[in-house]
Amino acid sequence: MTSDKRHVYAFYFCLETDAFCVYISAGLTVLFSGVFMMPEAHQDAIQILVFCVALIILAIFTPFVLKALKKNKTSTPADQIAARESDKLTESIQTPPREKVLQPVTTSSEAVLSGDEAATVEKALLKTRENFWGRIKNAFSSNAVKPLDDVEEVLYTADIGSTTVQSLMSHLDETLSSSDKKDLDTVKKTLREKILSILHASNGSVEHDHLAIPQRIKWAAEGPTVLMIVGVNGAGKTTTIGKLSALMAGQGKRVLVAAGDTFRAAAQNQLKVWTDRAQVEIFSPEGVTDPSAVAFDAVAKAKAQNYDLVIVDTAGRLHTQVNLMEELKKVKRVMAKNSPEAPHNVWIVLDANSGQNALIQAREFHQALNLTGVILTKMDGTAKGGVVIGISNELKIPIKILGIGERIHDLKPFSQQEYVDSII
Ligand code: GDP
Repeated sequence: MTSDKRHVYAFYFCLETDAFCVYISAGLTVLFSGVFMMPEAHQDAIQILVFCVALIILAIFTPFVLKALKKNKTSTPADQIAARESDKLTESIQTPPREKVLQPVTTSSEAVLSGDEAATVEKALLKTRENFWGRIKNAFSSNAVKPLDDVEEVLYTADIGSTTVQSLMSHLDETLSSSDKKDLDTVKKTLREKILSILHASNGSVEHDHLAIPQRIKWAAEGPTVLMIVGVNGAGKTTTIGKLSALMAGQGKRVLVAAGDTFRAAAQNQLKVWTDRAQVEIFSPEGVTDPSAVAFDAVAKAKAQNYDLVIVDTAGRLHTQVNLMEELKKVKRVMAKNSPEAPHNVWIVLDANSGQNALIQAREFHQALNLTGVILTKMDGTAKGGVVIGISNELKIPIKILGIGERIHDLKPFSQQEYVDSII
């Protein structure tokens, strides 16, 4: 083999773009270079050997390389993000969330009841703002020829959900002229208006923003109102029930909390700590392991003893387990036997940090239980608050409340205007 040919082969291997191939190319280049340095006498035999090895490696890896190159060519960045997102979602549906070990709550209710600094939605949403508006602004400051392409990427990674991203992007595309598409202020204004219209469609007009938390509950015309709380473990159900009970008790309502998560002793203990703090009664009959029986008896007790509000806690193991959904459907059905309209409210608690998973959970629970409201917890400190837009757009379930901290008062009514002002 002439030295020119050797160069051609070495060059061919180095030309490959795939990372995998770069490794192989580098290896072969080293081998070829080694051959150059061999004494003339041994070169022919070694050249043949190296050439054969190269052929075998090529035969093995060429199909992979071609497949990788084809994939790179056919999918757009948006497709790739969507594909990654969908893989993540499928994985999350199939893999049970690791059950969180509940930490004992501090026994000093003072520590929970008071706080040095008032938590606000605006403060809670600072990271979401950075992740959303901050990155959109960057897309425009980088002098990109088509900043909207970068905006699309920002939206895809802002936990809004691909369906909603597509509807936001088509709106920008259809309503803006080519020069408007390069103008940050116009894009901002158009995005704000579109997000607000999505939120209005599921949360009602902006007047709803002014409703206090008790006004967001659908109250029974007669007898106790039942509020069923569902959601996966660790989402913040117990904490939220504690906060809500304290709030309602503070407004003079008689509240009964039904400990319907009969599967976990720890959950019942934790709920007891929170009801003690909130100074409301807990219904947790000894030895009853059937959650439907607990819910049924709690509603009966509330009716007999004139409670205003029954908050029913429920189990939250893996939402994709058919059994859990069937169990929850039964809990819901059974309560209606005691009070035909009950439960008057079925609210899901979602951890905002779980981003796209929160959307999936809401969809699954909605299919089974026909949810009437959403509480998004842990909005403080998450960068994934964009999920609010996805839930509103895809499921049209009103967002009732935001959890913005671990303290008993860290619960705020969801305001569409405040949300939009905070993130963009
Ligand atoms: P459950 O399993 O659904 O009942 O979840 P828990 O109520 O036990 O909450 C799980 C964890 O989330 C606890 O450590 C809570 O303190 C925490 N948590 C709940 N709500 C919030 C919130 O709004 N903000 C923050 N930062 N943490 C929260």
